[in-house]
Amino acid sequence: MYDPLTHSNIAPNQGYPGSFWAADTQQRLNFPQFEGETETDVVVIGGGYTGLAAALELRQKGVAVCLLEANEIGWGCAGRNAGFALPGSGRLGYGALKKAYGEEDADEIIKEFYAAPEELKAFIEKHSLDVDYTQGGYLKIAHKQKFYQLFEQQYEELPEAYRKHLSLVSKEQLSSSLLDTNKQHGGLYNNSSFGINPLKMALAMAELVDKSGGTIFCNSPVLSYERNGPHYEVKTAKGLLRSKYIILATNAYTPNKSLPALHRIQFPVLSSVLVTQPLSDEQLELFKQPGLLCMDTRALKYYYRLLPDNRLLFGGRGTIKGSNHDSQGIKNKLLGALKDSFPTLDNMQIDYYWSGWVSVSQDQIPHIGCFPDNPDVYYAMGYCGSGVAFTHTAGKRLAQLITAPEDVPELPIYWRFPKPFPLAQFRRLGLWGYYQWQGLMDLA
Ligand SMILES: Cc1cc2nc3c(=O)[nH]c(=O)nc-3n(C[C@H](O)[C@H](O)[C@H](O)COP(=O)(O)OP(=O)(O)OC[C@H]3O[C@@H](n4cnc5c(N)ncnc54)[C@H](O)[C@@H]3O)c2cc1C
Repeated sequence: MYDPLTHSNIAPNQGYPGSFWAADTQQRLNFPQFEGETETDVVVIGGGYTGLAAALELRQKGVAVCLLEANEIGWGCAGRNAGFALPGSGRLGYGALKKAYGEEDADEIIKEFYAAPEELKAFIEKHSLDVDYTQGGYLKIAHKQKFYQLFEQQYEELPEAYRKHLSLVSKEQLSSSLLDTNKQHGGLYNNSSFGINPLKMALAMAELVDKSGGTIFCNSPVLSYERNGPHYEVKTAKGLLRSKYIILATNAYTPNKSLPALHRIQFPVLSSVLVTQPLSDEQLELFKQPGLLCMDTRALKYYYRLLPDNRLLFGGRGTIKGSNHDSQGIKNKLLGALKDSFPTLDNMQIDYYWSGWVSVSQDQIPHIGCFPDNPDVYYAMGYCGSGVAFTHTAGKRLAQLITAPEDVPELPIYWRFPKPFPLAQFRRLGLWGYYQWQGLMDLA
């Protein structure tokens, strides 16, 4: 599997991973490979949600855009995530944001985060997108009593305007009306979240970019870019594009060796997903609310949802390196966690398994902005595994940074260049230690 820290670049023509989404989505888009020399206003590198949303927004402003994707549209995270559209990004809740950035900024960041799924929903409705939308809400499950107390605190501290979306759910209510799962001590339910087929979403966005006059090329990895007089020159294997601006929307998939600009400010971390065979009618009785999206408080953060054809999607941390992403050890770990949550789902056949890279920032918030030493090159990264909804906002903000920067709120997620990871070369060792420690915490 492609590993952004070890491979010098992304190879083209890899096709989609063997995911449930790729199997469940018949549609394929055939964008050509980029060849020759041409000029445009903005080159967007990366055909995930961030790049597509930025391209769409730029086209609405009449800006000429050319998007270059190393493989297919949604080949990165966008086409292989779990499809939870949530009101949040990064890893910090309101309390932690307030502590780090003060009340005013925390309020404004939460406003951006809560607006994201609403805007995404409106976007889906406006364009009548067929993305297997399911409105089931999002349930965080306390696997220990102390986490339910933490939920109570999170509920209390959230400003009133957002608290209306939340409800605390007792252990009994959870089992009787939401989900019959093992070892739960209640939960925190958020009604503003919904599920989608993430690959259908990426493809639908690409069609809109295409219709709006944006140009898309696939299987065209960018090998390098550099300033030459008034323009940037963006090089692929078979061509050269000149542009005034560049948007680096490559997120965790950025090859650190050939495009090193994000190397020290983000850390690509693997998340892996398995999908079971369809559940029997009896097994389905465990799931009481259609479309419910779940995550529990175990340190290694397991997330799960029932898919429209009654399979269970179950995801969590992956391996440290891409080379062994599908080792039996990591599959057994996920299966063990699944059985811990649902002991009656023993011996389920696993029909799909895949992994993807999520981008983690040092301060655990997303960052969208331009490079201080290269102000016409823009980037977005650090969604920390929660980007399905917020990437759409991020793409819009990236476009505004170019066309109308005064419209972008003065917030740390937009205007503050992220701090680099200290001792970046030892991050994987640190991650290994973290997983060992967190694994022990889960056993405790
Ligand atoms: C297993 C998994 C489950 C997840 N589940 C959820 C979830 O349920 N909810 C949620 O909110 N978030 C989830 N996420 C995170 C979410 O998917 C991401 O935050 C989001 O998709 C990021 O979108 P993006 O467009 O920024 O990046 P990506 O979709 O990763 O797009 C980057 C693109 O850049 C391309 N690229 C890289 N280098 C080059 C180059 N040199 N030239 C050209 N193109 C290049 C890549 O091929 C890739 O397609 C999950 C992630 C994973 C891996």
